[in-house]
Amino acid sequence: MGFEKFGHKSFTSLTKVDAFVAGLENKELKYTKCRSCGKTYFPPRADCCGCLGNDMEWIKIDGTGNLLSYTRVNYAPTGFEKDVPYTLALVDFNGIKVFGRLSSAIAKEETMVVMQLKTQVVNLPNGQITYEFIKPS
Ligand SMILES: [Zn+2]
Repeated sequence: MGFEKFGHKSFTSLTKVDAFVAGLENKELKYTKCRSCGKTYFPPRADCCGCLGNDMEWIKIDGTGNLLSYTRVNYAPTGFEKDVPYTLALVDFNGIKVFGRLSSAIAKEETMVVMQLKTQVVNLPNGQITYEFIKPS
């Protein structure tokens, strides 16, 4: 299993971080942390640009994060036309900044910076897999 199953579109099928998709299939969104220097990465990286090592630990993003910023997409790039409108968000999980889509179940009017969010793995109708941010229950 490679990267072809991730996201709304598949851009690449070969990667050193295919454990990311395997994590999603287990309902876990993960980042990587360099065991040598401690630098963290989301999206996950297999190679560390801090120390040039490649001894990475995969860690689940757990709990709730704070919405740092967001934007409403009304005019989509090629391939995403059927998805608009949707909201892209940057959420901070204890220093791990995760970029992704806000669930369409969250109304535009209730979306605000610093609101609490958690991640949820989503299986798309076309067999792809991705994640989004939802309100904690
Ligand atoms: Zn490192």
